[in-house]
Amino acid sequence: MQKAHDFFHKYLSENISDADTVERMRNVIAEFSARAPKIVVMKCIDGRVHGSKAKGYPPTTIRFGRTDGNIVSLDRSNFWFWNRIDRAVKDAHFNTPETPAVFIAFMHHSPRGLGCATHKSNDTEALKSVEAQVAEVRKTYSETELYVMGGDTNTDIMAETLIFPGSYRIDTENVIQYCNLKKPRDVFHEFFLTNKLDDVATSRNVEHKTPDELLKGINPEVFTNFQTCLNMQNYLLREITTNIRKDRGDLKRLIRPDVLDYIFVTLDRVSMPATLVGPILYQIIWNITYALYQINLIDHLGPEELERHLDHAEELVCYGDGFETLPRNKAVLVKTGRGDDIDALAVAKEVLERNRRRYRQDHKPLVHINIEVNGQMMSWDDFNDNVGSRILTMRRNVDTVFGEEVAMLTSYSYRDEKRFYPVKLNQKDPRMAYPADIISEINSALKFSNISIKAQEAIYKASFIGASKV
Ligand SMILES: [Zn+2]
Repeated sequence: MQKAHDFFHKYLSENISDADTVERMRNVIAEFSARAPKIVVMKCIDGRVHGSKAKGYPPTTIRFGRTDGNIVSLDRSNFWFWNRIDRAVKDAHFNTPETPAVFIAFMHHSPRGLGCATHKSNDTEALKSVEAQVAEVRKTYSETELYVMGGDTNTDIMAETLIFPGSYRIDTENVIQYCNLKKPRDVFHEFFLTNKLDDVATSRNVEHKTPDELLKGINPEVFTNFQTCLNMQNYLLREITTNIRKDRGDLKRLIRPDVLDYIFVTLDRVSMPATLVGPILYQIIWNITYALYQINLIDHLGPEELERHLDHAEELVCYGDGFETLPRNKAVLVKTGRGDDIDALAVAKEVLERNRRRYRQDHKPLVHINIEVNGQMMSWDDFNDNVGSRILTMRRNVDTVFGEEVAMLTSYSYRDEKRFYPVKLNQKDPRMAYPADIISEINSALKFSNISIKAQEAIYKASFIGASKV
């Protein structure tokens, strides 16, 4: 089991480093969140459509639902599905009263690699499950409380298509072709590219580099340096939402005029609350830039790397919530809420087994269960209701699908932190491949307190200081 142990050690140390950045940049993310709509995104469990990087949304700002091929029970009795949307709707109602929440259900396809496994690469079928969700959700909410869209991701280059009411489509690839864009910098106006950012704090956080410097190269800093990425997301969302309210013409000093004009040909026809135009334009602009980065990147990959990039290469199954900081194609993601987790776990296991035949792993298949917690846990009951008992219920599903042939990590994280804190429900279970256990000393109503769990969390964090550098 040593090797699974090594895998999880490295995995956790990468998580600690990303979570530290999220914590340091908390104000930047909060500012972003105040200007963005509350958003729910439904996706496939495919690891290639993981995360929110291609949409330009920082971790913690999107609520994700994931099911195999977007197939989900739309029955009113599917509590998890509807409750996930209700959380965003309620959040929007009270915190962004003039801006409705947004719901997008994304299918995915791949011209060069494999499409959606659940739908056997049949894009028409994949679109049907997206349309079924969109229709049912649109029926359930009014447009002033929830704006509902469909979408499609090309997993080769992470280009997205947004499908609006009335079947209007804005397709990133289409914009790239029409405007003849070659590099990420091509999306922006020369004036913006060549000057330092006019906002003091953002400029400081990106080491006073110009956008041109941040966007250049095969691995542009904007996309590969997490701190830079968060700051540019915040900056661009603010500039776009502010200028669109003042004078749309001003945007042409930020974004290349022909790109804007081309997008507005369609966007102007779409019926949409005025408060959403800025955020959605931002999302499109970010995605065009991101897809250009991916197009250039895959041009530079050798055949083996290319295959690994385009097709499934996930290394583990992640079950639960809070995995947004993981890189693309790292994990097959299973979330509760489809109505039948066992089915989703079985599909995930199949994908992982296929990957393991191609890319050998010297350990048992890996499963990571994580529970996301809101707010603080003050008593042992809080811990038991939110974390302990849930891990137990979810682990039973993993037991059913994987049996003994699995190495496991079980953990919890706080919604606004994304740091995984490992816990062990059963110290003697040999499948538990990671030694750290936040709860071992305090797992009873007598010993548990908010202070004691905070102390254990601090000890765990401290154990990794310097570890990521080694
Ligand atoms: Zn899929």
